[in-house]
Amino acid sequence: MSWRGILEAYRSFLPVGEKTPVVTLLEGNTPLVFAPRLSRRIAPDAKVYLKCEGLNPTGSFKDRGMTIAISKALERGAKAVICASTGNTSASAAAYAARAGLACFVLLPKGKIARGKLAQALMSGAQVIAVKGNFDAALDLVRGVAEEHPVAVVNSVNPDRIEGQKTAAFEIVDALGEAPHYHFIPVGNAGNITAYWKGYREYKQAGKARRLPRMMGFQAAGAAPVFYDAPVKKPETVATAIRIGNPASWQAAKVALAQSNGLIDIVTDEEILETQLWLAVNEGVFVEPASAASVAGLLKSASRHHHPDCPLAAEVRASLIPASPIIVCTVTGHGLKDPDIVAHHKMKAVTVRATKGAVLEAMGLA
Ligand SMILES: *Cc1c(COP(=O)(O)O)cnc(C)c1O
Repeated sequence: MSWRGILEAYRSFLPVGEKTPVVTLLEGNTPLVFAPRLSRRIAPDAKVYLKCEGLNPTGSFKDRGMTIAISKALERGAKAVICASTGNTSASAAAYAARAGLACFVLLPKGKIARGKLAQALMSGAQVIAVKGNFDAALDLVRGVAEEHPVAVVNSVNPDRIEGQKTAAFEIVDALGEAPHYHFIPVGNAGNITAYWKGYREYKQAGKARRLPRMMGFQAAGAAPVFYDAPVKKPETVATAIRIGNPASWQAAKVALAQSNGLIDIVTDEEILETQLWLAVNEGVFVEPASAASVAGLLKSASRHHHPDCPLAAEVRASLIPASPIIVCTVTGHGLKDPDIVAHHKMKAVTVRATKGAVLEAMGLA
């Protein structure tokens, strides 16, 4: 049978009923791509997979949460939805609200949104409000507005979002036949790490997996409140999707990290960008900067020489890592969303005259 979206695929695990209208763009069912070169960089017998969430309808995992959040908002009789966003939530909310015929208001930190994401929100007819402040300020404003007006909040503070997002863990177990040993994931507002952990636990409870993975969360060094265990007043990172100083799901993420015997660590912007380029060049997978944080984290964790203090490296030394580790990295959003990033990589096309000679010269064949 053809794919009908995550609500229909995992209906019995989701807070939906017979009467819930199904607002879907057929999100989910994203590829779990084996990464051979990355696997070899980790260990000779490691198997690393990329859960490519950029292949969702609006190009990020946010669609999994949004199909449920918008369906439930419609069921409850909402006429309008609102969210604060570092970009992808607004792109997703705008698309699903358009599909549902709901008005959509999005509050964005002015000047800190990747170009593709802004275009998506505008093109789907959302009312885009650029706030002169960061994401955390925008989310505070959203909560304040929603307290006094009948607009449904579709940020990940809305539990329906977490419910939808947990289906990515289901798909991974369905594809591998078992949960991975390690799950690496970028952490911004901390909703997704919370959702994956919930998904893995529920699937194990349902007898679909025998083990649970260790959740390995990575924040950008300049926006790492969970790692430092303190809010960051002025979060800064090239990875705008995780530029968050006071995550909404902070406590739930801490529980996921503790229960899974996982860890939270940081990666620098330099490591993020280097990994983004490495993935595109070596695995053919172009992801946005925030998404590269999970893989950058894996590379950092596996490198015993460069980071001797890293808990994972200590485990490598103590041989606590299973003989053939199965590792999944969520790559959260598509590289196309943030085309301006090429400027950071200092790459551009060579321009030549329209002659064969000039082309051959540019190819190094003249
Ligand atoms: C939203 C987002 C994140 C962060 O997820 P949280 O649930 O906020 O931790 C990471 N990467 C991308 C591309 C995102 O859109």
